Amino acid sequence: MRGFQILMIIVCLLLLSNLFAQHDVLTQVFTIDALLNGLYDGETTIQELAEWGDFGIGTFNALDGEMVAVDGYFYQVTSTGTVQIPSPEIKTPFATMTFFESDSRHDLQPRLDFHTFESVMDSLIPTQNIFYAIRIKGSFCAVQTRSVPKQIPPYRMLSDITASLPVFHLEDVKGLVVGFRCPPFVTGINVPGYHLHFLTEDRKAGGHVLDFVIQEAVLEIDEIRQFFMILPEDETFYQLDLTIDREEELNQVERAIPDE
Ligand SMILES: [Zn+2]
Repeated sequence: MRGFQILMIIVCLLLLSNLFAQHDVLTQVFTIDALLNGLYDGETTIQELAEWGDFGIGTFNALDGEMVAVDGYFYQVTSTGTVQIPSPEIKTPFATMTFFESDSRHDLQPRLDFHTFESVMDSLIPTQNIFYAIRIKGSFCAVQTRSVPKQIPPYRMLSDITASLPVFHLEDVKGLVVGFRCPPFVTGINVPGYHLHFLTEDRKAGGHVLDFVIQEAVLEIDEIRQFFMILPEDETFYQLDLTIDREEELNQVERAIPDE
C-alpha cells in the first residue's frame, strides 16, 4: 500500500512538473524571414494558437492586421485602427505565444520612451541569451503604432509595403504593451531584441509599437528558456531561399516609421 502511495505521489509530481514546464515555453509559427519573403498565408488557426499560449503577438493571413493575445483573448488591430475579435478559424503566417507567468515586477519611470525602456529592461535582465515575455500595464502620454492592410496575391515582399503603412498616434491612453525580447541568435527565425504590440484598456485601438512615452506603468517580465517552432507543410515555404541575411530589412520593417 505504502509503495502504491509513493508511486502515485511520483506520478502526480511528474504531471505537475510537466504542466509547469509547458508554461515556460515560447512557441512560434513559421519564421520571420518567411514573412519578409512574402509568405503571408499560414495553416495554424487562432483556436490552435490558443493551445500554445494565452499571451502573444503576430499577424493574420494576408497580413490582415496586427495580432495581440492577452489573458487568452485574441484581438485584431485592423489597418483602419479599429480592433475586432478574430474568428477562431482565422489563420496566421507568423505568431509568437506563451503562457504568461510573471517572474519579476518593476515600476517604470515617467517619460520613459521605447528606446530608453530597452536600456532599462536590458539592465534588469540577467542575460540577453534567453527569451523574455514582456507585459507593461499603465498609462501612456503617447503611443505610436502601426498596422497592415490586407494584402492581395501575388504578394509583395514585406519591405516593399512597410513604407506606406497606416500609423496611429494615440495620446493619453491607458493600455497594455504585449511582446517579447528574443536573444540575438534568433536572427532569421524571430525578431532579435524587442518586438512589442499595444492594446488600449478599452480594447478599441492598438497595433505594432513604433514608439511610446510612459506616464505611469508597471513592467512584468516572464523568463523563458524553452523554444518550440511550428513549420508549414507548404510548397511555397519549401521553395523559399532562406539563406539570405535579411537583418537590415527586418530593422526597417520593425522599427522604421513609415512616411505619412
Ligand atoms: Zn509586430
